[in-house]
Amino acid sequence: MQVPSVCSLFGIGETCLRPVFYNGAKNQHVLEASTGATLPMSAAVFYESHSHTPLCKHATGEPEEYAAVAAQRGLHGLIITCHNPMPDGFSAHVRMAPEQFDEYVDMIARARETWAGRVDVRMGLEADYFEGYEPWLEKQLSSSDFHHVLGSVHPQIAEFKERYWNDDAFEFQQTYFKLLAQSAETGLFDTLAHPDLIKNQTADAWCTDKIMSDIKRALDRIARTGVAMELNTSGLNKKIAEMNPFPEMLGEMRARQIPVVIGADAHVPERVGDRYLDALDLLSRCGYESVSFFLERQRRDVPISEARECLSAAEPAPTS
Ligand SMILES: [Zn+2]
Ligand SMILES: [Zn+2]
Repeated sequence: MQVPSVCSLFGIGETCLRPVFYNGAKNQHVLEASTGATLPMSAAVFYESHSHTPLCKHATGEPEEYAAVAAQRGLHGLIITCHNPMPDGFSAHVRMAPEQFDEYVDMIARARETWAGRVDVRMGLEADYFEGYEPWLEKQLSSSDFHHVLGSVHPQIAEFKERYWNDDAFEFQQTYFKLLAQSAETGLFDTLAHPDLIKNQTADAWCTDKIMSDIKRALDRIARTGVAMELNTSGLNKKIAEMNPFPEMLGEMRARQIPVVIGADAHVPERVGDRYLDALDLLSRCGYESVSFFLERQRRDVPISEARECLSAAEPAPTS
């Protein structure tokens, strides 16, 4: 596959380079060599931060195929964040089993090698936040070198409904946002995934005016933790067809200076980087000037204009 020449981060020796924080100078990145030397560079760098593997039993395509789409779309890197193994059979039908974790590591290492010098493939994880499982997560997340850990409150799973559903959709929404704030306060996660997912679960009872004060209270708590939140483009394909979270909530996040990571939540290769330009436009409209991604669990901030530059030269027509 022909890798777009724009933003060719790896053209100057990918093995020794990794992007680091901006040095403050406009239009200039500093890339730090593993030797500790720094090199100025004008190319922008942007990654897909949320993607899956067939190990979760509801995604298709090998990581190599996801990397190929990342390259097509002008992305420099792909972070695989499949659903984490959980104990006791917890929603086992939508995640890898604990004994499959080594397979996950090997799968990503293989794709990383195949795409070396073209797409920077890294291992992350989408970890379920569910009260009582904090010690499990703590151990899991410290046992391997993840680059990006998404924390997810998944209200659609049976275990969640069993514990929290009491026939009142609005209360269920309130519970979701409380748990979202609680997940941030654990300090376990880099980014809170699809942070208004509950709207699709309770679509008929979804009224943003009614729930907004609960959301603001949750965002106040989240902002204090410093955790990032995701703008997830897969929401466009769900019942309430808009990204997660919705624009007004993004505006409230911006008011609290909560950093945003864009993720396509790709469960098929073709969705890698899907609607990223639209996501960047939405962020701009909500007052954001930069967008973030994580490597080595450290946040990197990229000016939106530069992220757009990477994608606009390469992204094919939207698929959905
Ligand atoms: Zn999934
Ligand atoms: Zn996901």
